[in-house]
Amino acid sequence: MTRTGLSMDVSTTTKRTVLISGASISGPALAYWLHRAGFAVTVVEKAGALRGGGYPIDIRGTATEVVRRMGVLPRLRDAHIDSRRFTFLAAGGSEVASVGAGAVAGSVEGQDLEVRRGDLATILYATVRDDVEFLFNDSIDVLDQSGQDQSGQDRSGQGVDVTFRSGRRRSFDLVVGADGMHSQTREALFGPEEQFHRYLGYAFAIFTMPNTFGLSREVVLWNTPGKAAALYAVGDNDELHAFLNFHRPEPPLHALRNPDAQRELVATVFADAGWKVPDMVDAMRDADDLFFDTAGQIRMPHWSSGRVVLVGDAAYAPSFLTGQGSSLALVGAYMLAHALATHRDHTAAFAAYERDTREFVAMNQALVDKGSATLFPTTAEALEQRDTMLRGLVTMPSATARPAHSALTLPEFGRP
Ligand SMILES: Cc1cc2nc3c(=O)[nH]c(=O)nc-3n(C[C@H](O)[C@H](O)[C@H](O)COP(=O)(O)OP(=O)(O)OC[C@H]3O[C@@H](n4cnc5c(N)ncnc54)[C@H](O)[C@@H]3O)c2cc1C
Repeated sequence: MTRTGLSMDVSTTTKRTVLISGASISGPALAYWLHRAGFAVTVVEKAGALRGGGYPIDIRGTATEVVRRMGVLPRLRDAHIDSRRFTFLAAGGSEVASVGAGAVAGSVEGQDLEVRRGDLATILYATVRDDVEFLFNDSIDVLDQSGQDQSGQDRSGQGVDVTFRSGRRRSFDLVVGADGMHSQTREALFGPEEQFHRYLGYAFAIFTMPNTFGLSREVVLWNTPGKAAALYAVGDNDELHAFLNFHRPEPPLHALRNPDAQRELVATVFADAGWKVPDMVDAMRDADDLFFDTAGQIRMPHWSSGRVVLVGDAAYAPSFLTGQGSSLALVGAYMLAHALATHRDHTAAFAAYERDTREFVAMNQALVDKGSATLFPTTAEALEQRDTMLRGLVTMPSATARPAHSALTLPEFGRP
């Protein structure tokens, strides 16, 4: 069901209305829980359709319980990528170590999920698309919490008046920014990203390329100090997820919004690299799904202002180095919806959301140092230490203790 225009149907007149900006992971998950809690939900997404693509992502610990409660665990299990091994290569392409995927990711076999990001987004969207209004190819242009509504009536403190890029205007009781690391909602409310962005010293390019190397259900990672190239064969099919990551003391800001500059920068950085990297750089030049960004975290003193609140990467991106971006998005969506279902007053709800979620976020953001040390050492000495550690891992069982991933016990929905 897709509703458009200013009118509301009878069944929604008494419902509290929420606009969510962003239809990736946190947006649709939040939409599901808010709909269940009796809200009338609208989701606006700037892309013309649900965005696929991206590297496979993990769902672990507490987040697994969120998707179980959403009823999508069986579908996610079907989409689960059962990687067999993770092989580390030295500069010349020789093998350093080959370990079970769980030994590196800290996952627990049979409990954690690894799925294509696009599959997760599609599954979440499918659970809500009939119950929630989706507005694709549009975005919030102006958020106004100051008072006068479009008919000139004073409704100070009662809602948010939204003007969309398309020109349509609507009022909502609450607005949620689920629009990712570079959130426009955050910028509109709290100011420029630089204040909240903690750059972690790397830039990366992700794209798909033909599987001409015969890889099958495995990840191969090549390292030199400060540079890494990874190929991820999700199945036995003919496509690979390629990943080129490099250390930079300062973020390459000039390239962030310029795909040509991104391709040039990556090609220059990896110009004299060995192994399959020249083939990867060639494939990147032709790729139509290049995703380039810096590795970074969002850290904010508060996640809400008035009737507008942030969720997922917009509020607390942990960076791919933690492997926890999607899990935090799922747990954050659940906790925000739970708080809004429990507290009629949005100020109390937003305070509860922060109070109950912040420690979990902090613990998971703190995983970053472990991730960068394992996957992307920046000095020869650190790389040697990492390799020594990996050779030891070959005979170690998979990790079973993951306090950060599972550190939050979800409250029951509908109960404080
Ligand atoms: C196409 C894509 C590929 C990705 N690939 C990877 C990857 O390979 N590895 C990784 O670790 N993480 C990747 N991510 C990020 C990952 O999805 C998030 O870290 C995590 O899942 C948290 O999700 P989120 O929903 O909070 O934010 P995101 O997944 O970033 O989603 C934000 C959504 O908001 C939309 N949006 C942005 N601005 C606006 C706006 N102004 N108005 C309306 N909508 C807007 C975006 O199009 C997107 O759909 C990718 C994200 C996307 C969108």
